[in-house]
Amino acid sequence: MKIYLDIDGVILGTASPAGDVASLLTLLLDRFPGKVYWLTTHCRGGADRTEEWLRGKLPDALADRLCREVLPTDWNTLKTEAIDFSESFLWLDDGLLWSERRVLEAHGAADRWIPMDRRDPGMAARAEAIVRMRNGE
Ligand SMILES: [Mg+2]
Repeated sequence: MKIYLDIDGVILGTASPAGDVASLLTLLLDRFPGKVYWLTTHCRGGADRTEEWLRGKLPDALADRLCREVLPTDWNTLKTEAIDFSESFLWLDDGLLWSERRVLEAHGAADRWIPMDRRDPGMAARAEAIVRMRNGE
């Protein structure tokens, strides 16, 4: 299973405690090695600026690991351009465009989106539970 990971509103700029966010990220990297992809405006159009965006905003060890292990994607208009619909996936994002939701629906994949509420302090912990459940744990 592939994991698509947004940054703003999911890793940064979220009400969830930093420890919960770190725990969620560690779970994703441990459970899905080589299968975690950035799906963020900081990595698009052939340019990956995730490292400069994350540095200094996360603990160094966690930023190091993310920069080393999360893979880049390339998209221009819709994030769904970067999704491989031939393989099962989960997509952690705080807000999809209407047109992105339509693409998911067209692929019968609307339930693969985990809506991340950036204002909810329990969101990262709940997302971790959802990922474990969807992974059959
Ligand atoms: Mg976002």
